[in-house]
Amino acid sequence: MENSPFNLDIQNSNTDSRIVAALERISQAFRILLWNESKDFSLTPIQIQVLIFLLNHGEEKRTVTYLAREFSITKATVSDTIKTLSQKDLITREYHQEDTRSYTINLTSKGQEIARKTSFFTKELFTPINKLNPAEKENFLLNLVGIIHHLQKAGIISLQRMCFTCVHYRPNHPQGEHFCNLLNIKLENTDIRIDCPEHEEKQG
Ligand code: SF4
Repeated sequence: MENSPFNLDIQNSNTDSRIVAALERISQAFRILLWNESKDFSLTPIQIQVLIFLLNHGEEKRTVTYLAREFSITKATVSDTIKTLSQKDLITREYHQEDTRSYTINLTSKGQEIARKTSFFTKELFTPINKLNPAEKENFLLNLVGIIHHLQKAGIISLQRMCFTCVHYRPNHPQGEHFCNLLNIKLENTDIRIDCPEHEEKQG
């Protein structure tokens, strides 16, 4: 495609294209870091991601249906992943009394240990981020949140638990530009959450 950001003539004469190309490089770094971590534990990248998710989210989110939406994969793929993690003694299934076909997924102590260790796979990213000053970090975070919000509205990523998609979020509140009605607090730009445990999806 002539105007692709990967066309070097376009990329090297256009800042927007270089930003997109730079984001692609960073996504590649995430894939490599995750892959390196998964090799160390003889797990696949998605198995590692599921373990980290289970460690950090409440039981209402630890279901096959929720994981399928979270990772944009089929329920069959999630079920296969859960089966393998169970065979490795990393998770258990807690079947629901009201519907014995569905279950909550819990980490075993061995699963918790691996999830804790592997959840640091992004640590290399902190070196350049730590060097930014507070204003640069605020700007960086707001821009990233804006990109994520756009990708959700465009239907590319399905599930986000961020303030901008939450029923409790109030923009342009008398107390500030961002306000959380549930926590009853003004949110600074740097307080905007991208994975909030209290998030409730805004409809429409
Ligand atoms: S409940 Fe969480 S996601 Fe929703 S507005 Fe408040 S802080 Fe943001």
